[in-house]
Amino acid sequence: MSYCQTCRREAPTKYVELYQNIGIIIMRFNKSIKGELCKDCINRFFWEFTLITLFLGWWGIISFFSTLFILPNNIFRYIAILNMPGPEKHASTIDDRFSEAKNLISTQLEQGAPIEFVLNGLIESGLTKESALIIMISATNGKYKKCANCDLSFKSSLAFCPSCGEKLHAIVDFNKS
Ligand SMILES: [Zn+2]
Ligand SMILES: [Zn+2]
Repeated sequence: MSYCQTCRREAPTKYVELYQNIGIIIMRFNKSIKGELCKDCINRFFWEFTLITLFLGWWGIISFFSTLFILPNNIFRYIAILNMPGPEKHASTIDDRFSEAKNLISTQLEQGAPIEFVLNGLIESGLTKESALIIMISATNGKYKKCANCDLSFKSSLAFCPSCGEKLHAIVDFNKS
């Protein structure tokens, strides 16, 4: 499932470039949005940008020609998404997913799961290594303890290695590892 780059909700998305131009004879003001957006957001930007350009876009030589380009561009982009499904009513955002993942991981680490295993699980579930690390750093407050005996890492609040029972010592900073 993809995420909309403006509302951050889980939804089918499409790459669009929509433009707006305001011409005031000797000056122009441009605005654009480019990215993978959901149908609701494309709708919103399309109407705002296109109507403003339609009424205020023409005044000025460069403005006149940019408006000639912008209006058909926006309209073609809009026509292309007419059949696209919109986001579901209660679609969760990427931020919801992030805190869900963070809570789940905190529980697993609390129960003594080694950081290496949890991290691999995240990557196997389809996250990039970077995103998995960000979630892990956030769930551990950036610190962990390493067991000298079995070479596994654990939540820094644990006193003993859940795997071999050895006392856990130094706290390691994620950024330094
Ligand atoms: Zn959106
Ligand atoms: Zn150990």
